[in-house]
Amino acid sequence: MLARYLAAMEGTESAQVTASGMSAIACTLLQLCRQGDHIIASDTIYGGTHALLHDLLPEMGISTTFVDPAHPDQFQAAITDRTKVMFVETVGNPTLKVAPLEALSELSRRSGLTFVVDNTFTPILISPAQLGADVVIYSMTKFINGASDLLAGAICATRDFIYQLKDLHNGRVMLFGPTVDPRVSFDIIQRLPHLPLRMREHSRRAMVMATHLEQMGVPVTYPGLASHPQHTLINEILNVGYGYGGMLTVDCATRRKAEHFMTLLQNEEAFGYIAVSLGYFDTLMSCSSSSTSSEIPPEDQSKMGLSPGLVRMAVGLTGSLQERIRQLERAVQNAGLIGQAS
Ligand code: PLP
Repeated sequence: MLARYLAAMEGTESAQVTASGMSAIACTLLQLCRQGDHIIASDTIYGGTHALLHDLLPEMGISTTFVDPAHPDQFQAAITDRTKVMFVETVGNPTLKVAPLEALSELSRRSGLTFVVDNTFTPILISPAQLGADVVIYSMTKFINGASDLLAGAICATRDFIYQLKDLHNGRVMLFGPTVDPRVSFDIIQRLPHLPLRMREHSRRAMVMATHLEQMGVPVTYPGLASHPQHTLINEILNVGYGYGGMLTVDCATRRKAEHFMTLLQNEEAFGYIAVSLGYFDTLMSCSSSSTSSEIPPEDQSKMGLSPGLVRMAVGLTGSLQERIRQLERAVQNAGLIGQAS
């Protein structure tokens, strides 16, 4: 039932639910690639996915070239006769770089590749399959579930690909065993109907906070701000009416400053929690380079534009927004972040 709802949400022929976002990604890539094959991936992706591509898949003879997702010409230049897959996150974790899905899907189709898009940050807001993606992946542990109390993943694709994943003899979801718990599926079904409402409210609050931070001269990144380098691009691919998502970042420059800022927000202001997930109803904050992206070596972090002091905020839905702004303002002041934007 859940798979059918997800296929309807994405406009794909079919879908498969898995036990986690990572298993959805791993099973998809292992279904599409064999020993000797090659993947081209965005260089700004979740640390676990980066480790899978950078460290684990090479042990199975599957290599990956990492490129800047904002530049389709870099994908084109990296294509070899063994390339099978192009992989991006719609809005990259944690830099919030937006992938030009239409240009990339056009390149992928022309080159006979499979275009896989992790849309975990932007369910409802962006529909990658409608923009040409072949496979849409979710960590449903995040926004789709919305309560940070269970784990699940989704693969939305053609009927044929979903059958391949379930094949009794070599289907990766069938045989590696990341079958989702049916009670988890039941719980997610109860929460899907209010996903659009939740996404709209995450977006509304994140937009108000990002605008306020920018006005105070804090180095903030949010796709809804005109100052975001791909603000025009995201406007072209958004489903109208749901805003720009619940994720924003504040660059505190150093890990020490980032930790100080987050501690003030959590312990002094009760603004949110220092925790590594996203899509919860309360705000969650983490210093990405030393948490969810810590698998990525420092030189690659710097190549993808990830500062050691970057605080990723998954803006929640609770509390009065005016009070949240006051809390944020005090913490920014006390952490010495005002006027730090270059
Ligand atoms: N994709 C993205 C963009 C993520 O942020 C995460 C986890 O943080 C995952 C995939 C992995 O999902 P899961 O934690 O459900 O395995």
